[in-house]
Amino acid sequence: MPSRRRVAANAGGTRYSSKRKQQTQQILFTSGFSTCPPFCTLFATLYHQLCKVLRHTKPMRKKYYFIILVFIIYGLGFIPAEQHLNPVVGATVNSWNPQSFWYYPWGKSGTHKGIDIFAEAGTPVVASTNGIILYSGSYGRGGQVIYLLGANWHFHYFAHLQQRHVSLLSYVHAGESIGTVGNTGNAKGKPPHLHYSISTLLPRIWLWNPRTHASWQRLFYLDPGKFIESGGSL
Ligand SMILES: [Zn+2]
Repeated sequence: MPSRRRVAANAGGTRYSSKRKQQTQQILFTSGFSTCPPFCTLFATLYHQLCKVLRHTKPMRKKYYFIILVFIIYGLGFIPAEQHLNPVVGATVNSWNPQSFWYYPWGKSGTHKGIDIFAEAGTPVVASTNGIILYSGSYGRGGQVIYLLGANWHFHYFAHLQQRHVSLLSYVHAGESIGTVGNTGNAKGKPPHLHYSISTLLPRIWLWNPRTHASWQRLFYLDPGKFIESGGSL
């Protein structure tokens, strides 16, 4: 027979957990996950089940659980299919110079880590793949920029935008409008274009070449031109 105090503590814990779960769902809904309510509810439920388990776990075991969790999350990043769309509507392979990727020297950037896709100002920019918006705002030389996390832990960077149509943590589908071509940041006064680069969490060690400029950084970047050409255009 459980004591009255323990019953009261459990009841309090349940109320607490339920309240925190509702708060998490609310945060996810208001921060852009409202475009995917089932995912929002599932994430909040899993998160709070995990918190319940960890509250009753020894510190040493928590470390192992944490490492396992990191590997699971990392593995999940490779499950979704990756799309390879040209992010500038109407652009063709002639809209950028393929030699410009990893070109050196390239102004204050040193090495050009992406390609510049030229188009009229205001031309729609679309998500090149399905993913989550990690940043949407103003950032240094990029001007108005968007960071998108897609499948395979690829980070897609769209810079010099005139307008941005997405907010933090919103989920976008490939082909969905995220902004328009512009010349913000250090592209001011230059022809409007989209600076597009793709970096990866997993270094591509087979590309190692000590004679390449910024050779170790090169391992963390994909050639966006080849990425687009292996897919399709809108
Ligand atoms: Zn550029």
